Amino acid sequence: MTLNPADQDFATRLRETVAPEVLRAPDPRHLEEPRGRYAGHGGLLALPRDVSEVSALVRAANAARVPVVPYGGGTGLVGGQIAPDGPAPLILSLERMSAIREVYPTENVLIAEAGAVLADVQAAARAHDRLFPLSLAAEGTARIGGNLSTNAGGTGVLRYGNARDLCLGLEAVLPDGRIWNGLSRLRKDNTGYDLKNLLIGAEGTLGVITAASLKLYPIPAVSGTALFMVPSPAAALDLLSLARDRVGDGVSAFELIHGQGLQFLDEVLPDIRQPFSESPGWCVLIEVGLARGLDPQAVLTDLFEDAVERGLCEDGLIAQSEAQRRDFWSVREHIPEANRRIGAVSSHDISVPISLIPEFLSRGKDLVASLGDYRLNAFGHMGDGNLHFNVFPPKGKSKQDYAGTPAAEVKRALHDLVHDMGGSVSAEHGIGRAKVEDLERYKDPVALEVMRVIKAALDPAGIMNPGAVLRS
Ligand SMILES: Cc1cc2nc3c(=O)[nH]c(=O)nc-3n(C[C@H](O)[C@H](O)[C@H](O)COP(=O)(O)OP(=O)(O)OC[C@H]3O[C@@H](n4cnc5c(N)ncnc54)[C@H](O)[C@@H]3O)c2cc1C
Repeated sequence: MTLNPADQDFATRLRETVAPEVLRAPDPRHLEEPRGRYAGHGGLLALPRDVSEVSALVRAANAARVPVVPYGGGTGLVGGQIAPDGPAPLILSLERMSAIREVYPTENVLIAEAGAVLADVQAAARAHDRLFPLSLAAEGTARIGGNLSTNAGGTGVLRYGNARDLCLGLEAVLPDGRIWNGLSRLRKDNTGYDLKNLLIGAEGTLGVITAASLKLYPIPAVSGTALFMVPSPAAALDLLSLARDRVGDGVSAFELIHGQGLQFLDEVLPDIRQPFSESPGWCVLIEVGLARGLDPQAVLTDLFEDAVERGLCEDGLIAQSEAQRRDFWSVREHIPEANRRIGAVSSHDISVPISLIPEFLSRGKDLVASLGDYRLNAFGHMGDGNLHFNVFPPKGKSKQDYAGTPAAEVKRALHDLVHDMGGSVSAEHGIGRAKVEDLERYKDPVALEVMRVIKAALDPAGIMNPGAVLRS
């Protein structure tokens, strides 16, 4: 179906439906994305203040066949929030809908509007002595509607699950403008199809999330953080098993860091305090969160000694203060920025079955070496089987030297390997516009067909985020 731009005529008609202050020209920030890979265009920016305004805007866009691109914090890394081509869309930013509507501490439930910044949701939970465990480096900017729409992961998935696992219910506006009130606080509700799980991870292609009912957890009474140097990824995997055998669900993060990542930090972010005097081949950042009465330092020391005895660990640092804990996390969280400054030829957000991570790293390394002279930095959420496996030019060259065919060759070869190993080519960032072809190549054809049927049923005019996830 042909779509029309969000032009002046459309703006004039919209002003009859919504208050004038809801509409304005898009700001440059709504047309950029963090890695600068897409430049967006937008005819009009809408900043609705409540769900009825969202409904009026979407209903009008549907009637006029104008594309709608929902916008949260703009931190998505696959171009889902940016329309680089096609008729100029209505960019629908949820930033004014940022209220925490209710907190139910005894139920461990919090209801937030979709535009609430993730860090503010965490703070609101903390104010009630509760934990909202979704945590990622972009949490000061990303908004809960965007987190749910991308089914964000981050560092707490190992213990608490991803955004999908943390959601009990949604309020959303469907592509025809109808408001679906599914803000359930129920943990058990077996009444047919689970609509919230259709919208979660849909990246704005099936409707606009306007509010969410979220799960909270008790804040662990005590916590501890350590960096352990490991001889290999296989040792890191055994260390993860050992840690979970000893500490159970108390292991709340287990992040693999490659020595190359520390060298990149040294090269481009020298102010970040390096933990080890000499860069290790590999290390892991472990965090434990424990119940009252347990001593995290003692737990981590015991784990360290046991791991050394078993040959799983060569050296280690256990944070002795909050400042040191922050330093450890700062190392992990600045690796993406260091990567950005070095400039990757090709970046991959992949997952494989957890036990195959060492094999993937070894096969991936050989594969990349067979394609040319590259540097590799693999890091990430090892406990979830999710790695950011990034390929860089050798020193003295830049990513521009590999643009086009060489970069595409690297990506294709690595994604084929991931697929052969039963993995996913998008573990946590989504499909957006960057991975539409990958989805077509690797997704089970029946699943892909069902996705298209669902899209056509809910959004027959194809106004919701056209070109994202499914080819329009
Ligand atoms: C430094 C950095 C670190 C990151 N680390 C992680 C990480 O560890 N784990 C991880 O999973 N991701 C990570 N990301 C990616 C990003 O932060 C997440 O994808 C985040 O969930 C996006 O939220 P957002 O509000 O910025 O969404 P946006 O970027 O605004 O939008 C993302 C997608 O969701 C859609 N959307 C937004 N709001 C709504 C809504 N209310 N209703 C319907 N659709 C909507 C948009 O159309 C778009 O398709 C990182 C990004 C950066 C820059």
